[in-house]
Amino acid sequence: AKTAQLLDGKALAEQIYTQLQQQIQQMQPTVGRAPGLAVLMVGDNPASAAYVQNKERACAKVGIASYGQHFPTETSFSELEKVIQALNQDDRVDGILVQLPLPDHLDAVALLHQINPDKDADGLHPLNLGRLVRSEPGLRSCTPAGVMRLLQEYKIDVKGKQAVVVGRSILVGKPLAMMLLEADATVTIAHSRSHDLPTITRNADILVAAVGRPGLITAEMVKPGAVVIDVGINRVTNDAGKSRLVGDVDFDSVQRVAQFITPVPGGVGAMTVAMLLQNTVWSYSQRQ
Ligand code: NDP
Repeated sequence: AKTAQLLDGKALAEQIYTQLQQQIQQMQPTVGRAPGLAVLMVGDNPASAAYVQNKERACAKVGIASYGQHFPTETSFSELEKVIQALNQDDRVDGILVQLPLPDHLDAVALLHQINPDKDADGLHPLNLGRLVRSEPGLRSCTPAGVMRLLQEYKIDVKGKQAVVVGRSILVGKPLAMMLLEADATVTIAHSRSHDLPTITRNADILVAAVGRPGLITAEMVKPGAVVIDVGINRVTNDAGKSRLVGDVDFDSVQRVAQFITPVPGGVGAMTVAMLLQNTVWSYSQRQ
């Protein structure tokens, strides 16, 4: 039986790293320093620690200096605010990001507002979200930008197509819907209150799942020949007690219906890190 072609985010991310590395080598003599990224982590969430480590490894690979700091869970808002203000002033630092989620006592949105929008490597500051809505140049949120870059790489035309985004978070669903709209797709956003999700998703030429529920999207919900993008990252444990990562899409059944599909891992997650580094290098180039 025919199966869908994989959209290989890992391979594309590697290509992007090579390009970024070359770009940095070219710019560095003029600028007189390497680009810098500060990843701030609070507490000991193991998934967050793994993400932070991935980001710092990728930085080292391309030649971005890491100014990351790790804080204990009980760190106060005002301490973090001071750290962000110092990084805003620090000329070696082009990108600042706060790894989410934060411990409950910290207001993540209020902290995000403290970041200089021109150093907002995650593209989540309201000014950058506003620039996206206005189609102005600016730092774009990494996960949705990674999805768009992946579509572009495989020459998947979104113009005039029906795109359905399941999930409406400010981190993924909303900005991605905006980017698809900017690329001239006809966009539907579905969420937990949507009636009859399968009818909505079956209409999609391009279907994106950004929900956080393993196996939510089954083959019956997918139009034959559709492009299926799985943003979800869920850790599941099998009967033998072994844990692994899966997306929101039931990969085994959907790959028999779709034309293109992203794997988990190795799809959108890899692209997210690549876009973070690309944003940092973009800020670096803008600051000269
Ligand atoms: P959120 O929990 O913030 O948002 C989930 C969205 O899914 C909400 O809009 C919610 O609707 C909707 N939803 C929940 N249940 C259903 C349902 N049964 N049917 C339809 N919609 C539903 O999650 P995020 O957007 O932050 O993340 C989504 C997933 O993507 C997670 O698995 C996360 O781990 C992953 N992720 C992956 C990244 C990557 O790099 N690949 C980066 C960021 C996240 P409502 O608004 O009504 O509550």
